[in-house]
Amino acid sequence: MTTVQAPPTSVVRVAEPDLGPEVEEAVLAVLRSGHLAQGPVVERFEQLCADMAGTTHAVAVTNGTASLEVALEALRIGPGDEVVTSPLTFAATINAVLRSGATVRFADIGTDYNVDPEALAAAVTSRTAALLPVHLYGLPADMTAIAGVAARHGLAVVEDAAQAHGAGVDGRRAGSYGLGSFSFYATKNVTAGEGGVVTTSDSALAERMRMLRNQGMRQRYVYEEVGRNLRLTDLQAAVAVPQLERLAETTRKRTRNAAALDRALADVDGLVLPAVPTGRHSAWHQYTVLLPEHADRDAVVAAMEASGVVPAVYYPKLVWDYDIYRSHPQVIATPAPQAARVVARCLSVPVHQRLSEDDVRRVGDALRAALGA
Ligand SMILES: *Cc1c(COP(=O)(O)O)cnc(C)c1O
Repeated sequence: MTTVQAPPTSVVRVAEPDLGPEVEEAVLAVLRSGHLAQGPVVERFEQLCADMAGTTHAVAVTNGTASLEVALEALRIGPGDEVVTSPLTFAATINAVLRSGATVRFADIGTDYNVDPEALAAAVTSRTAALLPVHLYGLPADMTAIAGVAARHGLAVVEDAAQAHGAGVDGRRAGSYGLGSFSFYATKNVTAGEGGVVTTSDSALAERMRMLRNQGMRQRYVYEEVGRNLRLTDLQAAVAVPQLERLAETTRKRTRNAAALDRALADVDGLVLPAVPTGRHSAWHQYTVLLPEHADRDAVVAAMEASGVVPAVYYPKLVWDYDIYRSHPQVIATPAPQAARVVARCLSVPVHQRLSEDDVRRVGDALRAALGA
């Protein structure tokens, strides 16, 4: 007797690299050129990043965390200074501040999951040197208001745009409000495996970052400062360049998938769908919902995984809510009730550009079924 087996269904994940033949060719061309380290392909990568952010400069570095670090260093932020950021972010955001020697403070988020401009203004002290908004899930923070807060208090702005390639506010791009930090880690909208960039239209800061990333040299063997080696390689840049060239198409597909999920989930009782405020353009790095109050998130995750859709929790706790940070002398942990509600209920489901229409349907069906809706 033969048994009829259902065809194997693929697992739908929250991230999947989108490479293809152009990336393979670009990488092969670098290999064949014999020039693997920072060179012409990194320059092309930087030009495309500046175009992405609408800035005049982009400085490539080894990863997104390093791009935050070199941005803070270029601004000469260090011990005695304070930097205000969101409590709903990845540890890299605050690790970079702590490495600089500065103290990190937090302002609660709004319904857009990003730092609230009023809370940000209220967290400013005489020691504050910079505001560090995070464009979480690809949705830019309210940068018009945040730039206003920065201008009123004479503060620098460093945007953690690690998740927000090509996002924008009122026609202006994420990464153009001061120093914009982007990541090209494997799960981001554009990847180099590892990689980072700082975007800016400030020529002096751009030049300083180029010096700092290259052992403190502008000219060979002329050391102006104790520098570092934060150089990206042509090999890595070659992975990202073709993806940057088709970024608009990528974002269109992610936006289309998000709209399909909106329609599929609109009538689920108690489920909060991600809202994009007027004037803002999300890069749709993640599609993040708040589960109904009564839902058991672990059970929802298990049920979805059993049907081949793997969601993720970004993030399970406030960023400072770990022993290492709670007891850290440079961390000023303050209550953030709105962010606390989000970490208890948030769930990100796949929305990326490699999903087929059928995959998107499976994502919506899996979440609905897990919620008994
Ligand atoms: C990924 C990420 C970073 C760090 O980027 P890496 O390239 O992994 O160092 C920083 N902040 C946020 C919000 C991120 O998602």
